[in-house]
Amino acid sequence: DTSGLEEAAAGLVQDGIDVVRVAYSDLMGTDRGRDILTNRFARTTHDGVAFCRSIYGTSPMGDVIDIEGGLAAGLPDVVAFPDVSTLQKVPWEPGVAHCIADVFNPDGTPAEEDPRTVLKRVIRQFAELGMVPTVGPELEFYLLEKDDTVPSGWRRYGEATGNVYVAGLRGDPENTLLRSLRHLSAYGLEVVAANHEFSSGQFEINLWHSEALDAADRAFRFKAAVKELARREDKLATFMAKPFNDEGGSGFHLHFSTWSDDGQPLFHDPDAPDGLSQVARGAIAGVIKHAPALAALANPTINSYKRFGPDTLAPWLIDWGLDNRSAMVRIPPERGGATRLELRLGDASANPYLAVAGLLAAAYLGIKEGLEPPAALEGYGYDPAKADLLPGDLGTALDALEADTELVEALGGQFVRTFAAYKRNELERFSRWVTDWEFREYAYHL
Ligand code: GLU
Ligand code: MG
Ligand code: MG
Repeated sequence: DTSGLEEAAAGLVQDGIDVVRVAYSDLMGTDRGRDILTNRFARTTHDGVAFCRSIYGTSPMGDVIDIEGGLAAGLPDVVAFPDVSTLQKVPWEPGVAHCIADVFNPDGTPAEEDPRTVLKRVIRQFAELGMVPTVGPELEFYLLEKDDTVPSGWRRYGEATGNVYVAGLRGDPENTLLRSLRHLSAYGLEVVAANHEFSSGQFEINLWHSEALDAADRAFRFKAAVKELARREDKLATFMAKPFNDEGGSGFHLHFSTWSDDGQPLFHDPDAPDGLSQVARGAIAGVIKHAPALAALANPTINSYKRFGPDTLAPWLIDWGLDNRSAMVRIPPERGGATRLELRLGDASANPYLAVAGLLAAAYLGIKEGLEPPAALEGYGYDPAKADLLPGDLGTALDALEADTELVEALGGQFVRTFAAYKRNELERFSRWVTDWEFREYAYHL
């Protein structure tokens, strides 16, 4: 269906837009894409933008990874089709609009490796239950500024202001966060609030909730935009899970509930003692049951597993609790339409499409099967006698993902195989790399 495309393109010209940045997500959630001149955009929406499938099979360090249908198949094309409903002016780049695309195989079937396609697949499963999943993303990140006196070349921005949670503008001496916030808002990302986090140079920005695909689109754009805006001020914004040994990690909390097709909230039951409906309990139970596999998507890097641990406000055990921030799943105190769960598992390095898809798939399975969650955590959530531990490393999480046949089916087998191949390559390269820790530990004494 190409109706409205000519109008959309004409509207762009009228708005002074001469370039449309057509963007899609690689497996890590990094934005890829091409800049299309506006006078070619209508045609592009019809023909698509072809690109090499290698984006799903090339590491950030340039290694070519053996994925299904990859190098061995001659690295055939895939084709990105802009989703015109996502067209958005880029406020800090006059003349440029941004448009998110879905990726297809040349035969017209959706490309199973495309993270946005994976999410759409899971949303369709909810639609079969007559349910609409809603998500509210919260992202933490560090802002760094150049410092040639430290080995990495970067120190934490505003470090001198100290580790003051919700320090407001004291933690943002050059107004970098403030400027970003205004741009992000004008970019249509529905930012609600920003604050200084617990650690020095660490910030959090919350996005308003919406239907899952739109929420993931906004989180995907948000991460790219925050990095780009920081770079324009010679700073580095990093969503790495745990960049510093002596500071907290960065979380990617997801608030989640489901609504009926006709707009009724499905998580609240006024007659239940805790106010949670059977649907909410099923969702919690599904997330608990599939947590080890879900970690591979929500905590997708080697570094991710260094964020978990006692007393971190990141989770350590597979548990849930009523308004308890030491649990993996927290049920915030609001009820009625605001009844929701907050998955605190994910870290900021996760691909928003895949973290949301994983959460939805786990919740869907729990709802569909009518699962009952274990008893809610009482009190301190970092006592390993109370619940099972989360996977301790990426390899264990990938094993759990591959073994979780229900979750694999919900997400798509080809996607999981490609994702696992990509991530196993990362593990392999890391296992060969001599780290600074090894030198410090061994070089002087041995
Ligand atoms: N930084 C913590 C995490 O890694 C979360 C802190 C908070 O509750 O805001 O998840
Ligand atoms: Mg926070
Ligand atoms: Mg939170």
